[in-house]
Amino acid sequence: MVRQVENYSVPSREDVQPNAEPPHAWWADVPGEAPHLPHMASWRQYDPAAQVTAYEFMLREVLGVDNLQGLVGGYDDVDANFRVVRGFLGMAQALHDASARGDQDPVRMRTVAGTAGTPQERIETFLPPEVLALFRRYREEGWASISGSPDYGGQGLPMGFANAILEMGMVNPGVAVLTFLSEGVASALEAKGSEELKRVWLPHLKSGKVTGAMVMTEPLAGSSLADMETTAQLRADGTVTVNGYKRFLSSADHNASEGPNGERNIVHMVLARTASENGYLLRKKPDGSFVEVLKVDEDGYLVGVDGRHLMNERGEMVKDGEWRQVLTLVLVPRVPLNEKGEYVDLEGKVVDAPVENGVLIAKLNHKTGLQVQSNTNAEYVNACGFVVGEVGEGMKNMFVIMNGARIGVGLQSVCAAELMRQNVEEYAQRREQGLGGAIIHYPNVTEKILNLRAHSQAGRIIAAEVAIALDIVERGKNDFFTRGEKEEYQRYVDVMTPLVKWGLSEKCYAAIDGGVQAMGGEGYMRESVAQILTDTRIARIYEGANDVLAVGEAVFQLKHMRSFIRRMRTSTAWTDTARCATSSAP
Ligand SMILES: Cc1cc2nc3c(=O)[nH]c(=O)nc-3n(C[C@H](O)[C@H](O)[C@H](O)COP(=O)(O)OP(=O)(O)OC[C@H]3O[C@@H](n4cnc5c(N)ncnc54)[C@H](O)[C@@H]3O)c2cc1C
Repeated sequence: MVRQVENYSVPSREDVQPNAEPPHAWWADVPGEAPHLPHMASWRQYDPAAQVTAYEFMLREVLGVDNLQGLVGGYDDVDANFRVVRGFLGMAQALHDASARGDQDPVRMRTVAGTAGTPQERIETFLPPEVLALFRRYREEGWASISGSPDYGGQGLPMGFANAILEMGMVNPGVAVLTFLSEGVASALEAKGSEELKRVWLPHLKSGKVTGAMVMTEPLAGSSLADMETTAQLRADGTVTVNGYKRFLSSADHNASEGPNGERNIVHMVLARTASENGYLLRKKPDGSFVEVLKVDEDGYLVGVDGRHLMNERGEMVKDGEWRQVLTLVLVPRVPLNEKGEYVDLEGKVVDAPVENGVLIAKLNHKTGLQVQSNTNAEYVNACGFVVGEVGEGMKNMFVIMNGARIGVGLQSVCAAELMRQNVEEYAQRREQGLGGAIIHYPNVTEKILNLRAHSQAGRIIAAEVAIALDIVERGKNDFFTRGEKEEYQRYVDVMTPLVKWGLSEKCYAAIDGGVQAMGGEGYMRESVAQILTDTRIARIYEGANDVLAVGEAVFQLKHMRSFIRRMRTSTAWTDTARCATSSAP
């Protein structure tokens, strides 16, 4: 449906309320046990060192990363990279413990009164205190940008190694999603944003003081993003005005991002339909030019702003759907800043206090899992935004965030399978049952443990191979990798990224469910391992529902079959090539 942009009320210029604690006790204050009666401790354990050992073996022995020395930037000192990875062990353990406790201590909210310009009551959400403290530690230890460019404060760790940290971080997916979405937003900005936008926002994002959110889904547009109704109206001064309603947004509101005055500042990367300066929605013609559209008539034909039907190059009236929607990626800060980090108003004028930017958090969603992560709906009311990349290239630009996020979701599932494996393996060795001894000797239990082992290990390898291919594309030395080879690696990454998300989330989830079964009643308890199952269920839904990915992949594979098969056949070709290159070196 085409419609003219609605007029919203004038945005508020009131100061943003500083973060404050919500006015109620946490659930965790309510005890679950009678203090003086016998009770059994819940079964829950985690050893991140097992993951590091698995990565060391896999990256060195299976994928041969030592052979990439001198050929791909960041691979010259593999030992140093592993030292960085091992530096995360303490953080991983703390993340796990906070995740287990936070499961019964979920995100909270409070309502906030409207202001003169935007009178609607809105909400603010609050992370559990332990998670908040942990995120601050995470930021202070410098984990907020592991693989980002050092030019803007990143650590520059190649993706092949960053995957290990990402996987360990996923032991607390609530915190990890917050951080990897921020990294994704920073990557999109780095790849597509103007120099000015980069200078203003990248240092804040890389430090973790400002976090990022990916904003696409709407009530009537989830899998089918072309149906979205949120609009970004182009302005003569180069900014855009965003209006609309988005839902299910991960980490779009929380109290872990901190501006100088304690205000929450989160950069929303919003995908929106583009409207012209006159307020008419745009469509893209086959020649690449844009045209303003007044409406779709009752027979489904596009009508131009002069009230006459639009015609295609064959002189026929244009049916709705023939010319593409113009989707644009827009950076909408909750609190606008300038290059010096000063507060500015919506016209860019320096002001003393933070200014609110028409982003109204409307609802806290109560999820099945990921209790320590805030998921909200938001209304955008004349919010001021900045185009990232080209107008009309929104979907392509959003994929910079989505592709990283899809690998992250795959690793979320791998980490969950690993965590479940550690618990089930130990439990099954200790749990004696009847005459058969420990249940680990029962073939049905062994099978479930082997499934967990197989899918976590295989998933790790597949995700690492994609990450290394991406490193080759981005950091491979041009005197060794030709342009054609890099393009082929890029195609491999494009094909494999949704497959990593889809395959790992499907296989690991099934294996985790088996793990719950192998632990019997203990497995069903949230304070034991059931949380792993509920936290991981989402991996099959977000970043593209798996059914939709499966259909999309089938079409994509058919289109790129030849290149894909060639790459699959030689999926460790870079290792072999590198070996040849290094062995023939003088
Ligand atoms: C916890 C959580 C966090 C999220 N975080 C974010 C976020 O940060 N940012 C954001 O923008 N969104 C986010 N989402 C939204 C998420 O990406 C969508 O829920 C997801 O893409 C599915 O869209 P939908 O819910 O509208 O389902 P629908 O699109 O209505 O699909 C429902 C089902 O219909 C079927 N289906 C639909 N279309 C097709 C098709 N073409 N082919 C085959 N089957 C089909 C599938 O079985 C699908 O599962 C989040 C969601 C959740 C639950």
